[in-house]
Amino acid sequence: MYDVVVLGAGAAGLMCAMEAGRRGRRVLVLERNDQPGKKILISGGGRCNFTNLYAGPEHYYSENPDFCRSALAAYPPASFIALVESHGIAYHEKKLGQLFCDGSAREVLDMLLDECSAAGVELRFGRQVLEVSKDDSFRVVTDSGVVEAESLVVATGGLSIPQLGASGLGYEIAVQFGLRRVRTRPGLVPFTFLKQDLEFFRS
Ligand SMILES: Cc1cc2nc3c(=O)[nH]c(=O)nc-3n(C[C@H](O)[C@H](O)[C@H](O)COP(=O)(O)OP(=O)(O)OC[C@H]3O[C@@H](n4cnc5c(N)ncnc54)[C@H](O)[C@@H]3O)c2cc1C
Repeated sequence: MYDVVVLGAGAAGLMCAMEAGRRGRRVLVLERNDQPGKKILISGGGRCNFTNLYAGPEHYYSENPDFCRSALAAYPPASFIALVESHGIAYHEKKLGQLFCDGSAREVLDMLLDECSAAGVELRFGRQVLEVSKDDSFRVVTDSGVVEAESLVVATGGLSIPQLGASGLGYEIAVQFGLRRVRTRPGLVPFTFLKQDLEFFRS
């Protein structure tokens, strides 16, 4: 029995676990991969474009613009930069306020893991979450046992790059709990064609 169980050890899950741990909650993170933050490691071409100096709510497409406003008001880019600096991570501005590590994205991942460790967060890898249910508490079934928690955080990410662990579990849980689901579509990364398809579709 935990206070909080976080599904997924990506950027969102680690950040949330670290904050919950700092608030004195007993936190467990469950990750299906054998290691955390695989997508962080490939972000920004391996250097992690970890924030933008000028990020503001007007830069986000959203059906809920108030979310971007309140999230960025509560945690502006300056807060993440302060965290990066407190870990001695060297960085530079590439262009238009984009901040990248001088070294590698691994430093950002290590920073999040160090913060989780300092906050007493427990991480378990190689744990595939199979299903979730709720009675008085949340019950999380994994391929190697069951855990329960008062609060559940679903941070299993989007669908891009399944080779890195992406799954549709978050969407399934949303449907299960009666949340409206927005239709998914490709984003962020280029939509690539095989050569013969490109010939056909080019025009
Ligand atoms: C090529 C590329 C480059 C990018 N570059 C940048 C960049 O420079 N800067 C930037 O800000 N963003 C960048 N992004 C976007 C950024 O990487 C993502 O937005 C971010 O990593 C998403 O974090 P997340 O925690 O929401 O999801 P994820 O990182 O996908 O984490 C979700 C985790 O949940 C786990 N999981 C899924 N299903 C289950 C299950 N059933 N049981 C247990 N665990 C499960 C997955 O294994 C995964 O580890 C890039 C993305 C790509 C693809």
